[in-house]
Amino acid sequence: MADKAVLVSGGSGYIAGYLIRQLVQQGRTVHTTVRDLAREPAVRQLLAVDNSRLKFFAADLTADAGWDDAMAGCSLVAHVASPVPFGVPKSADELIVPARDGALRALRAAKAAGVKRFVMTSSVAAIAYGRGRGVHHFTEADWTRLDQPGLTPYIQSKTIAERAARDWVAAEGAGMEYCSINPSVVLGPVWGRDYSASVVIVKKLLDGSLGACPDIGFGVVDVRDVADLHVRALLSPASMAGQRFIANGRFLKLREVADVLHARLGPQAHKVTRRNVPDWLVRLAARFHPVARVVVGELGSVRHQSSAHAQAVLGWSTRPVEQSIVDSARSLIDLGIVKV
Ligand code: NAP
Repeated sequence: MADKAVLVSGGSGYIAGYLIRQLVQQGRTVHTTVRDLAREPAVRQLLAVDNSRLKFFAADLTADAGWDDAMAGCSLVAHVASPVPFGVPKSADELIVPARDGALRALRAAKAAGVKRFVMTSSVAAIAYGRGRGVHHFTEADWTRLDQPGLTPYIQSKTIAERAARDWVAAEGAGMEYCSINPSVVLGPVWGRDYSASVVIVKKLLDGSLGACPDIGFGVVDVRDVADLHVRALLSPASMAGQRFIANGRFLKLREVADVLHARLGPQAHKVTRRNVPDWLVRLAARFHPVARVVVGELGSVRHQSSAHAQAVLGWSTRPVEQSIVDSARSLIDLGIVKV
């Protein structure tokens, strides 16, 4: 495997950027896809890696063109690209179709190119939803229950895409190892204005646009460590066939994220709310606002997602979530994305 290239799909993305950097820094040649090659110069500038080790290809998740060319000469694939929305789309298919069909396109092209290992970026969205309120503990054995009400289009898209990929590999993927990485909410330093939707939580707290914290929470993991877990899964000498790896630091309530910003940023956190919003007010807002409807479904839920498997099999660990939160915030301030 050592001499061949690694394909990382979606090179313009937050996680993919860190992954490409780590792979090139380890001496690998990387092929990456973008929807439009017009983005290549800007992405190259941001990544700032040895340009001779990085090749760009145009490929969209919704079309066949480009995937075969991108995979040619690759023995390893990290399929990272998938839509990560900033809001709630009108139709779930806006996310489900590119997520699912894009994964299948990448799998088919990988198989045809003789790829040995295919690592797909899934999510805890495919593991930990559809359980209702309360305190829940999750491992890789769990799947989001698609028959339950209130699942967002994003949660549906990640669950359906990972299921479809695993089904395809079981039926057609002989000779190619498939595994998934399932991160929780990914935070850490952003590259520029084109940051992932996951970082919006920190941005809205910092700029004061989130006026109070509802009683919701989420697992947090660092983008650098998520990239590192992909590298470990790609390069491990052990078989990765069928594996699933949760990538999570720990669960925090939104209130705790705000408290971390206050404690660690001092005056720079002066717009970060110290107020909580009562459940009844979120329920009232949900009558008028689709985002509040999503929040209602989350009120009071606690989801602990264990990364013990990634630690045991791949020797992975992640830095403290406080550092990821603060590094997200500092990068947003340093890049002028948030004025404090
Ligand atoms: P991101 O920065 O928004 O990256 C998403 C990437 O997917 C971008 O490169 C985007 O390209 C590409 N993409 C979207 N729709 C596409 C299409 N139709 N055709 C081709 N490319 C398309 O988000 P990210 O956080 O790095 O997410 C990367 C992966 O991690 C996704 O699979 C996501 O579901 C997963 N994940 C993320 C988190 C998180 O908290 N951030 C947590 C768990 C899992 P453009 O730049 O052209 O839009």
